[in-house]
Amino acid sequence: MTLDKRSCMARAQALMAEAKIENLKYAALELRLCIESQTYEKLRAFSSMVPEDVLRTWQPPQAVKMLLEFEPHADQTFTIYAGLEEEYGKPAKEMSFVGTHSSLRLGWLRKHYNKLGSLLHAPAVYEPRLHNLATLKQYLEEVIEDLKEPLESTITGGAIRNVVNFTCSECGKPVIANAETLRKKRKAICLNPQCKAEYYANIDETGQVTLQLMATGFECASESCDGVAQIENRKLEVGIEFSCPKCGLRHQIAHREWGYGPIEK
Ligand SMILES: [Zn+2]
Ligand SMILES: [Zn+2]
Repeated sequence: MTLDKRSCMARAQALMAEAKIENLKYAALELRLCIESQTYEKLRAFSSMVPEDVLRTWQPPQAVKMLLEFEPHADQTFTIYAGLEEEYGKPAKEMSFVGTHSSLRLGWLRKHYNKLGSLLHAPAVYEPRLHNLATLKQYLEEVIEDLKEPLESTITGGAIRNVVNFTCSECGKPVIANAETLRKKRKAICLNPQCKAEYYANIDETGQVTLQLMATGFECASESCDGVAQIENRKLEVGIEFSCPKCGLRHQIAHREWGYGPIEK
């Protein structure tokens, strides 16, 4: 069985020819595989930025999520610094992109990838509207129709400048973020599922972006040490333990405090 996008599509269409519920469910699976195959193929276009071994660690939903970061919108250049405040580094370089023209819209991809997935479960969690044979058939036909053209189109070269990339200071894997999303949300998240480190995006008047790990510094409790441990904010809670990066002294978070004061007008 070959899992390339065209073979998946061909099998889906063959299954649709006899519209029985079991055939349609298999067709939904084939169409989902087709979307996955298309997604990985597109991501391979970024292989200079996303190494193959990293790509292989992504489960399809992460791959789809990653691909959404590449959605071409804006056309700005950015200089990116990653990591903790004191260690600036790695300005993002412009990268080449295969396929500025993407006829398979990424919003479409996410929506139908999830919807097709919901068809693969037991009836109790079916999307009720798609439980009906005729409705399901019609839905799958629509997906096939939407997929047909992108599958046939040849990818053309171009340049994309709306993606920022930097190395995650926590796991060392490349982080890729859509520049426009970054502007709006002021936040980037490492897409490595084992990491998920969060970065705050500072944007100055000139549009320059500085990314900073969302972390809090804790000074070493030892009198003779000036080490500071940076702990990611999302991991902070009473009871967690950490070591001083300088002397190795173990610490434990004992309590939390919120500071506040009147707003000055
Ligand atoms: Zn990371
Ligand atoms: Zn220390």
